[in-house]
Amino acid sequence: MAANRKKIFVTESMSQRGRALLDTRDDIELVEFPNLISAVDFEALLKQHAPVHGVALGATRFGETELEASGDMQVVTRIGVGYDAVDVPALSRRKIPLMVVGTANSPSVAEQALFMMLTLAKRAGEMHSLVKDGRWKERLGKLPYDLFGKTVLIIGFGRIGTRTAKRCLAMEMNVQVYDPYKSADEIRAVGCEAVRDLDAALPRADFVTVHCPKTPETIGMFDSARLKRMKPQAYLINTARGGIIDEAALYDALMSDRLAGAGLDVFAQEPPPVPHPLFELPNVIIAPHVAGVTCEAVDRMSEQTARNLLSVLDGEPIRQNVINRDVLD
Ligand code: NAD
Repeated sequence: MAANRKKIFVTESMSQRGRALLDTRDDIELVEFPNLISAVDFEALLKQHAPVHGVALGATRFGETELEASGDMQVVTRIGVGYDAVDVPALSRRKIPLMVVGTANSPSVAEQALFMMLTLAKRAGEMHSLVKDGRWKERLGKLPYDLFGKTVLIIGFGRIGTRTAKRCLAMEMNVQVYDPYKSADEIRAVGCEAVRDLDAALPRADFVTVHCPKTPETIGMFDSARLKRMKPQAYLINTARGGIIDEAALYDALMSDRLAGAGLDVFAQEPPPVPHPLFELPNVIIAPHVAGVTCEAVDRMSEQTARNLLSVLDGEPIRQNVINRDVLD
């Protein structure tokens, strides 16, 4: 390979729209790697192709070992916005920027959160079965609920949380927000109510939807004590990251009718082990971590990832998409 050519590792899930942008450049060589690759195989593949200058990650973990194996890594990008699987301090030590895709998938995740709220409140699965199974006469037994007039508590008011709030306001819900890093003024300015004490807010919420990152502070945020503070009629939605809700505690709460239902797009372990006790419950709806990977979002994320990679390799990093901005200074 010519000295000025750059080698970029892209996970197989990167869509054609993003690859096409990279393919226009004759100074870039792409190497595809499987989305579900073991750490050992990934390290070996990087070593085999070293020096590797850029990487577009799906769910693959990336840290010291992978940096070492890459030889000359210059930019690490995620085809997404969560980066709990990336060792940011390790990148920062070597002055390597970590980039994410900004708002490329935010509307999609907000839609999924609203979809889960509606699906649970409208008892979609049960109603579907009643008609299909010829049990029409039971239809007035367990009635569905409105979102209208209900209180939703949004945890995390970033790119996704703000968009979920907009959608909930459109449903004429009372929107409360818990985000210790956002000012009350900022939250009030868009028609929501800021809450500072999560424990005090939980007993008032009919829906709780989680949109904060997974950090040491948020792991186990919804443990047994927090779940006990919620109304028995409330629904809990998690489209953020597994581990923020304690799954065993959630199961106990649902089994003992201390919570009306849950919507989960993310799990402590992915893929989760099956059979899984939570998945057998009729008031739990699940999805395989796809909230942010709609057809449209996949293209938006791939394109943004390609632009992120090129911006660093061309010496003009897209600053707002860099997580460890101090490496740019
Ligand atoms: P963001 O960084 O724009 O917003 C996160 C918000 O959470 C910030 O406002 C931050 O202040 C707040 N926050 C941090 N710690 C908090 C805490 N302890 N309590 C309450 N709020 C806290 O991120 P985003 O783009 O809105 O994404 C949010 C999360 O959603 C990501 O971290 C990611 O894990 C997850 N996500 C999931 C999918 C999916 O497909 N299911 C897709 C995209 C993102």
